[in-house]
Amino acid sequence: MTRTARAAVLREQGAPLRIESVVVPELRPDEILVRIRGVGICHTDLTAAAGGVPIPLPAVLGHEGSGVVAEVGSSIVGLRVGDPVVIGFDSCRTCRNCRRGRPAYCSRFAPLNYSGVRPDGTSVFHDGAGKPIHGNWFGQSSFSSLVVATDRNVVRLPREVPIELAGPLGCGLATGAGTVLRVLRPESDSTIAVFGLGAVGMAAVMAAKVAGCGTIIGIDPNPRRHAPALELGATTALSPDDVDDIGRHVRRATGGGVDYAVESVGSEAVIRQAMSSLASPGVCATLGLRGGRNPITIDQTHLLSGRTLTGVIEGDATRTSSSPNSPHSGATADSPWRRSPAHFLSTNSTTPSPP
Ligand SMILES: [Zn+2]
Ligand SMILES: [Zn+2]
Repeated sequence: MTRTARAAVLREQGAPLRIESVVVPELRPDEILVRIRGVGICHTDLTAAAGGVPIPLPAVLGHEGSGVVAEVGSSIVGLRVGDPVVIGFDSCRTCRNCRRGRPAYCSRFAPLNYSGVRPDGTSVFHDGAGKPIHGNWFGQSSFSSLVVATDRNVVRLPREVPIELAGPLGCGLATGAGTVLRVLRPESDSTIAVFGLGAVGMAAVMAAKVAGCGTIIGIDPNPRRHAPALELGATTALSPDDVDDIGRHVRRATGGGVDYAVESVGSEAVIRQAMSSLASPGVCATLGLRGGRNPITIDQTHLLSGRTLTGVIEGDATRTSSSPNSPHSGATADSPWRRSPAHFLSTNSTTPSPP
């Protein structure tokens, strides 16, 4: 049985997305059809739409989808029609990194998430004339009212979770929270600075609070992001434009620098600011994808004093580590992430800067 969905289709790099009818063909045995109820816009979608990621066109982007299972393939177990779900990135589950619990570094990450087609080369969408429209973007292409995913990248949500707000758990919130809770693993009462207060940075702030960091410095040039960051757990929020040298300012404010830094922008200037804010020893994680090559220069002498710069994809998350079911999520009746999407909507609506 085929069905028709409404989707935002990218037909030309740099051009606006166009709302079109797309046909969703018969499901494969391992596939799940999800009726989308909410979706976030991640900076990687914008990077791809601008041509920064080599995806075949026409294509449907979107990779922070949440919704309700509308149909399951014949081999799916454990999910039923009507289940509320969030959709994350795809991974093969069989390569060395997948088997050791590191699916964000799946050896088949690019073909499964960026190629626009299923592993067998077919497309999950086509137009009315039968021409393929590329999907499978991060295993979902959730800028569509109906999405084809698999049990590799779908997580069932508790029914009390507001489903229309849960989409960013699939990427932005998982990236920021996973980086703090799974990669940096800050000690209780340690100090952390978060550069960039979009969805990813706000999630890092929330996770730092969950981890018990004593000092959480949120940094963003947009002052409208400061109050939400303070509400979500930052102990200080400031703009790099308000001080001469943000690295020196953070070092002075913390008596020598922060133990950890999260850099969610991806520009060399901000990476250098984040590295400059570090204590000795200290660890900085850089997260922002700028598309293509992005060379930076780092002073080796600065690194020698026990400092580390590492990169993180998707918060090094597993399929369930950042879900509301996870003990890492801090999911209580008052979980801060439940308040966050409204903030992202208000901040992102005025600020196209990454992430
Ligand atoms: Zn993303
Ligand atoms: Zn894999």
